[in-house]
Amino acid sequence: MYRLLKRVIYRGARALGLFRLAWLLTGRGLRILGYHALSRDDEHHYAPDVFMAQATFRRRLALLKRWRVTVLGLGDALARLDAGTLPRGATVVTFDDGWATTAEAVRLLRSDAMPATVYVTTQEALSAEPVFRHVVRYLLQRTKTETLTLEGLLDDGRTTASIRTTEEQQVLAEQLIARWEPERDPAGLEAIARTLAARLGDSYDRIVTSGLLTMLGAEGVRTLAHEGTDIQLHTHRHHFPVGALEALSELRENREHLEPLTSATTEHFCYPCGRWSPEHWRPLHEAGVKTAVTSDPGFNYRATPRLALKRFLDSECISDIEFEAEISGFQELLRRARGAVSRAVRRSSATAAAVGGHPAVEPLLLVAATLEA
Ligand SMILES: [Zn+2]
Repeated sequence: MYRLLKRVIYRGARALGLFRLAWLLTGRGLRILGYHALSRDDEHHYAPDVFMAQATFRRRLALLKRWRVTVLGLGDALARLDAGTLPRGATVVTFDDGWATTAEAVRLLRSDAMPATVYVTTQEALSAEPVFRHVVRYLLQRTKTETLTLEGLLDDGRTTASIRTTEEQQVLAEQLIARWEPERDPAGLEAIARTLAARLGDSYDRIVTSGLLTMLGAEGVRTLAHEGTDIQLHTHRHHFPVGALEALSELRENREHLEPLTSATTEHFCYPCGRWSPEHWRPLHEAGVKTAVTSDPGFNYRATPRLALKRFLDSECISDIEFEAEISGFQELLRRARGAVSRAVRRSSATAAAVGGHPAVEPLLLVAATLEA
């Protein structure tokens, strides 16, 4: 409901010229966009927060061109931000994890002279096999089968499991992942995935030959780097503990796997799942990491901490008008307004508590909540 209302407000704002006005008001802020993977088939129906339809990605590029957005490499953009020479509305494009289709997306960008940074989590991305947990979830989500025979798949005392409802499918998927993934035996995982696919009336070979749910693999990373793409750090295990020793070990392993493939130094980082804390900064400094991107939406200015860069995660869940609102800066102005309202509410609440109630607080809270949604 909020989402629909938001889209209506955006369309009205654009029609009134407020997107163009926002572009003028926020032009000095550096935009950083974050993506994961493109679909090769129907993966965006399965996980729209990870996989984006090719057509959607092409519309994003068309919009960047329509707005005459200057897309810069990460290092270049930050140097220009420091020097005060950033072009208006300058944008950096990043990809997380190292999915196979990142290569296609990066080449599409390159054909329009738009560079990109790819953050690679090496334990998973250096294998070009389909990712087991995604295969399991994907197969269970798209099946029409209502009952699954569990022999050889789960040894929990049951012979069959009902997978009629979405909830049942999700529960079983997580049980299979918890049972098999910790063993990390590629041949064993493939055998389970093959059996599951066959019992669900699907085909594991279809997934392999279509290149669905797969990562770049070592060769893919090497090729992308040699074509000129900036390949950077995302931890080895997609896990970044707060403890300095463990964090440093993740960075070291990530680097040891990446740098021989890229023949380049790595000094930029992406927090796995966007989870970060100022406690992470010490190990990042010690490891010589110069910048780190979060998943906190917002634009970046000279004063933005370089180890907590803000970034807008784009996905199939984001409509075209929402993306345009973000690029134009209209959404950034709403975020600033929300911040101002929240601060006013806090001040007002403190005053109200002191004087025993204040009728202006309630409507302000409502406005803050609406902008938040
Ligand atoms: Zn990630």
